[in-house]
Amino acid sequence: MYEYRCRQCNLVFEELVSSASLNTPPCPKCKGDQTEKILSSFSGIVSGGSGGAQPMQGHGGCGGSGFS
Ligand SMILES: [Zn+2]
Repeated sequence: MYEYRCRQCNLVFEELVSSASLNTPPCPKCKGDQTEKILSSFSGIVSGGSGGAQPMQGHGGCGGSGFS
């Protein structure tokens, strides 16, 4: 199970693909193929780090901007 994000509508979706698959699945929403795999790094949030903390807030979780 991998997470992917669509660059066109910013939809984040999960796709069950084999690790051997190099191709990213198309976006289920806009059918675009401009998707990229999201590395599910749960350890990405560094707590207690000093300086260089860049706010990685999710880009609009719900509701894509009416990009048709
Ligand atoms: Zn999309």
